Amino acid sequence: MKRTCIGRICALFSLLAVLLAAGCVRIPTSEESGSAPSRTDMPAPAPAVSAIDLEHATEEQLFYIGELTEALPALLEADRELTEIFVCGRIYLEGDYGAVDPYTPFPAEEGSKYADFSAVTALFDRVFGVDGAGREEFLSYPDYGRPAVSERDGKTYITSHFMLDFTDFFVADDVQVLDINAAGASLYAVTPSGLGVRFGAVRTGSGWFLRRGTYFAYSDALREFEQAADWHASPDFATGMDEGSAKRLTGRCLIVSIFLSDPESTWSGEETARVLQMVGEGAEYLGALAASEGVELELFCTGEADSLHYRTDTVLPVDYRDFGWTGTIFDEGLEAFVLRNSDAGSYDNYCIMLHVNKQGRSYALSCNSAYYDYEMYTAERSVMYFTADNTYEYAPNVSMYMHEMLHLFGADDLYAPYLSASAAKRIEAYCPNELMRYVPVDIQETALSPYTMFRIGWRSRLDRQFAAFSD
Ligand SMILES: [Zn+2]
Repeated sequence: MKRTCIGRICALFSLLAVLLAAGCVRIPTSEESGSAPSRTDMPAPAPAVSAIDLEHATEEQLFYIGELTEALPALLEADRELTEIFVCGRIYLEGDYGAVDPYTPFPAEEGSKYADFSAVTALFDRVFGVDGAGREEFLSYPDYGRPAVSERDGKTYITSHFMLDFTDFFVADDVQVLDINAAGASLYAVTPSGLGVRFGAVRTGSGWFLRRGTYFAYSDALREFEQAADWHASPDFATGMDEGSAKRLTGRCLIVSIFLSDPESTWSGEETARVLQMVGEGAEYLGALAASEGVELELFCTGEADSLHYRTDTVLPVDYRDFGWTGTIFDEGLEAFVLRNSDAGSYDNYCIMLHVNKQGRSYALSCNSAYYDYEMYTAERSVMYFTADNTYEYAPNVSMYMHEMLHLFGADDLYAPYLSASAAKRIEAYCPNELMRYVPVDIQETALSPYTMFRIGWRSRLDRQFAAFSD
């Protein structure tokens, strides 16, 4: 047993009394461990955490808790100020910026509190310590578009394209200590809306600092909840999602290729091989993308042996506004034809590509219960025109096959005239290579924005930077 002098014991008892009075370290009561109010679309609060119980804390723990108790209120206050500047756009909201371009950094008003970037650096130093790593997350915020706040020649530059009215701050009184020692502390707090947030503090020769901005710890906790949440319960869930034969691009999915011949056109073996190669390459690309997003997807395509061929006496039109034939050229209907001639019915989702060997602009006919005739399109289909002429404006390529296919799985066009001018500008700034706005010959140049990933069922919640696309 360690020797402890009486004076130290007295000091510890008074420290304990101060801590309890300050409410920094809470010993959860039985009342608190019950259910707490939660807001809509928010997780049940406070998963079981084991906070340090002061009655059983070591002397060493009590000592560091005492230090942290003194430092924490000021750290959280300065951290909140950083959040208000970077996340809530405080500098912009307090100034008069007229008609600045929201996407291009512009200087903070001369004479305003944070016009000199040294004022922001001073805040960083207070929260993270000099050269503390926590500043990096703020400086690269937000995820899409130019940074909210940046430095140029010692001046503070800001953008206004993404500002959140974030108010879900916790204070020092809400913080529980999970672990603490001479190097730092693991901390936990439940926000006013009921989200449990884990964060950390570090102890240095200059005192206590936060490891990262609590806003980012909050965002991680929220994202973790959202990944597990019900897609259908999202406020952004809309018709066209989870409908028809291609409900969502997850699980086992099949692309059924049907090569159509009419009195004017037919297919050579070389041409079908070229089409199947492009579809296969696209499917492989999306499969790899899904894997990198942690999405379970097995995307199969029919090949040379099991793709379908169909000859019709109807002359197939090339105008994308004339699409009724996709439902009428098959005696039994397209859906029955596909289910009878392929194993599409054994997949979680399937879509159909009707290949026509003519020049034309390809299009997709997805099932959307907002349309009066949606029941005709439960077997979701795209019409893909083929030409070997690469100079043709709508010449097929791998990206185009996947663009049309993604429509069938719920994706929206993200280019004019299908978007407002402001939304078009936003997607250009946030995700210029989005496959629903851009179909380059090389699909490797493309990307899927969080909006498309939400629409096709890869994410159960829509990233707030893309909320403008959901109406
Ligand atoms: Zn499109």
